[in-house]
Amino acid sequence: MSQFAYTNGILHAEGNSLEALAQSIRTPFYCYSTAALTHNFQAFENALCQRNSLVCFAVKANPNLAVINTLSSLGAGADVVSEGELRRALAGGVPADKIVFSGVGKTREELRYALDKRILQINVESLSELKLLSEIACENGVEADIAVRVNPDVDAVTHEKITTGRQENKFGIDISAAESIYEYASSLPGICPTAVAMHIGSQLVDLAPFRTAFKRLRELVTALGGAGHQIRRIDLGGGLGVSYNGESYDVPGPELYAQVVNEVLGDIDCTLMFEPGRVISGSAGVLVTKVIYVKKGEGRNFVIVDAAMNDLIRPALYDAQHDIQPVRLPPADACTQLYDIVGPVCETGDTFARQIAMPDIIEGDYLVFNAAGAYGASMSSTYNSRCLVPEILVRGKEFSIVRKRPSYEEMFSLEQFADWQE
Ligand SMILES: *Cc1c(COP(=O)(O)O)cnc(C)c1O
Repeated sequence: MSQFAYTNGILHAEGNSLEALAQSIRTPFYCYSTAALTHNFQAFENALCQRNSLVCFAVKANPNLAVINTLSSLGAGADVVSEGELRRALAGGVPADKIVFSGVGKTREELRYALDKRILQINVESLSELKLLSEIACENGVEADIAVRVNPDVDAVTHEKITTGRQENKFGIDISAAESIYEYASSLPGICPTAVAMHIGSQLVDLAPFRTAFKRLRELVTALGGAGHQIRRIDLGGGLGVSYNGESYDVPGPELYAQVVNEVLGDIDCTLMFEPGRVISGSAGVLVTKVIYVKKGEGRNFVIVDAAMNDLIRPALYDAQHDIQPVRLPPADACTQLYDIVGPVCETGDTFARQIAMPDIIEGDYLVFNAAGAYGASMSSTYNSRCLVPEILVRGKEFSIVRKRPSYEEMFSLEQFADWQE
């Protein structure tokens, strides 16, 4: 069941009225549900727990420290893609030996920090990175446990901006070159190639590309074993999609995904690692907004809300359509109209929905964008000099502000006039 549901005609986040929250916190704000995060994490883990596995939450989906802490207290590890995320994971309570570091552009400083913290695994994405890591490991007198992130060359059939597993994408090392890379890696001082990794893209709603990629990875692991490499862990990445707007197709959940994993890799004697982001936090959050104006044009009704593309960029960037609900349940006999829901930013791309049928909307109404708990707040900016919006975490009847709204002074605080200005 959803943790965002109507009680007495008002949309609630667990035991909290979103109307009451909106009145006290002021809109826009993100609201996350502890119960939903817990449910989503445990559903994923339970689907795959028949075997030795580690679920590392992809921090970039929702890096809020309170969200990380909620998940780390359930036993989650973390998949990080920068030193900032690594620091967040540690600050959020994830033990270093459950952290994996991915990304094509890790700098010398970032690699040194990761080695210093003795994290579980660094997923290496190029020959140059491998050489640099060996050099740093030797300087520091440590051994780096690595996976080579291979690019299995499958089309993830998702939005072009979030497919990562095709040959023309910048990610990973071509799977056909992988065996020679492992050969080379094991000859390098300071490098222990103990794992294999992949991640083919995000918001996958078809399991076939996973199956193809897993099979290719399995062949690789078998070949590596034959060549004498001790592969102990297989990191299957993230990428499982979620439902945003009552899609006409079925979005497969963790159980079906687990079936594919078990079918292809069930008998392999390795720890399986997963890096889910969206499927853990996506449906666990909403963005709450207020209607500023209703502007009736010739044949077009614009609802101008106080949230904008800088707060939730997914519609503008990925053509995403987040399901939109009124906080107050309209009467059953309310008239519906076609609306365009838009934000105040000076760009036509600042449009959340076009021509959607909604019950009569009036100025001052509160609306929510559903499934905004992943790649929402984490991709927000201060474009148009709009302050970052607060983030609220609820648990039952309790709520807590887990990122406050900055003041305008705080927004300007890193800037100053040039020396010659006054
Ligand atoms: C973004 C990313 C993930 C998480 O992807 P989701 O689609 O949110 O599950 C996992 N691993 C890597 C390497 C990533 O870049």
